[in-house]
Amino acid sequence: MESTSAGDRTLDRDERGRLGARAAEKAAELAGHDVTAVALTWVDVGGITRTKTVPVERLEHAASWGVGMSPVFDVFLLDDSIVSGRYVGGPTGDLRLHPDLGRLVPLAALPGWAWAPADRFTQEGGEHPVDARGALRRETARLAELGYSVRAAFEIEWAVSDGDSEGDDDFTPACNGPAYGMTRIAELSGYLRDLLRALAATGVSVDQLHPEYAAGQLELSVAAEDPVGAADTAVLVRETIRAVSFEHGLAASFSPKVLPDSVGNGGHVHLSLWRDDPAEGPVNTMAGGDGPCGMAAAGEAFAAGVLGHLPALLAVGAPSVASYLRLVPSHWAGVFACWGRENREAALRFVTGALGERASAANLEVKCFDLSANPYLALAGLLAAGRAGIAAEASLPAPVDVDPATLTAAERGARGVTALPASLEDAVTAFEDDAVLGAAFGEALADTIVTVRRGEIALFEGASPEEITAATRWRH
Ligand code: GLU
Ligand code: MG
Repeated sequence: MESTSAGDRTLDRDERGRLGARAAEKAAELAGHDVTAVALTWVDVGGITRTKTVPVERLEHAASWGVGMSPVFDVFLLDDSIVSGRYVGGPTGDLRLHPDLGRLVPLAALPGWAWAPADRFTQEGGEHPVDARGALRRETARLAELGYSVRAAFEIEWAVSDGDSEGDDDFTPACNGPAYGMTRIAELSGYLRDLLRALAATGVSVDQLHPEYAAGQLELSVAAEDPVGAADTAVLVRETIRAVSFEHGLAASFSPKVLPDSVGNGGHVHLSLWRDDPAEGPVNTMAGGDGPCGMAAAGEAFAAGVLGHLPALLAVGAPSVASYLRLVPSHWAGVFACWGRENREAALRFVTGALGERASAANLEVKCFDLSANPYLALAGLLAAGRAGIAAEASLPAPVDVDPATLTAAERGARGVTALPASLEDAVTAFEDDAVLGAAFGEALADTIVTVRRGEIALFEGASPEEITAATRWRH
């Protein structure tokens, strides 16, 4: 198995002292914003953001020594029932949650509150091997050792419902205007204005906002960042949307399939691979090369690595039973393993950007992922698959420029286009067989991922699409 040393951190006494001193400065700043409490979040293997809170006076101690939390949360299922794996399970043990002070920010949508994503360490000061944020940091470091960096962003789709005044949890679209229609903006103008203000105040750089296709569905996209930053932002944006929704008497669903019969919510991931050039600095390998659609060799190899590992990657990118109700052909969810320029039915859409800005804009969009994914695990998997593509100097097959569902099985076969797994069970089997992802995540994390997935498969055995969508609708 590959070394997991790249990017590993250990908290020694000096480091703890430095963190405490920095936290004391931050706490003084937060007091100026009238902050009382700091929510430390981490995302579990099942994709749910969990939290512990410290009063602002305890931030310094939390930064140095962490806040205790059981490792058992790594085997929680989406209904909060608990399973047990080979490495995680049972009531014993403790971990320390350490706020990342670099990302600490007052939450404009929750006055009096600040937020920081947490890293999880053992009581001995080493990284917890099942911590998803640590896994993504390690993957980022492995690419850096090869002279590459990645810029990434998650698109956030959500469906907004009238609030739950009757105590039921049904979905009632909060707007009735047509898909992509300006009517929806008029219906929800105050809500969306407050959302944009809250995101700006928390330092999120919003690129655009639009009404989406399904009833009550909206979408927000943000600027690309480094991988850990992009995953943190995916958490922050969702918690901001949730909070502003509640404030307006609404409820936000990020579920892959809000209603059994409609188009679902995607969590498309945009990725570009940048080569560190000693003279020019980082150069985007998705443009300016001799490969397909102008990709440079490394960019094509990275894309080919991602494409080749997509069946297994679904176990981290489309990780819930409801994910496979979304993954149906001709719904813009990308259920065929193929790629194409601006093809919204290819699992891998290649986005070139307009002529003139391609050097900064060209990127890959992974369409088949959704927001029940832990964003740290989803990106860590994509980076590992891309790195394997670079190592193999892999090349892409011919691009596909039609909806693959309109091709006959023979035509798809001739073009090398295959259907992605149609169930979580098939994705988990592909994941178990994928040595690249197994090595990248390490045994304990890989085993825990499989344990949680199989737990959720068992939870929904025999359940109807109505039951699955209802049980998943408000969880992520
Ligand atoms: N809502 C679609 C999905 O499930 C995506 C629509 C789009 O291409 O933006 O992924
Ligand atoms: Mg969309």
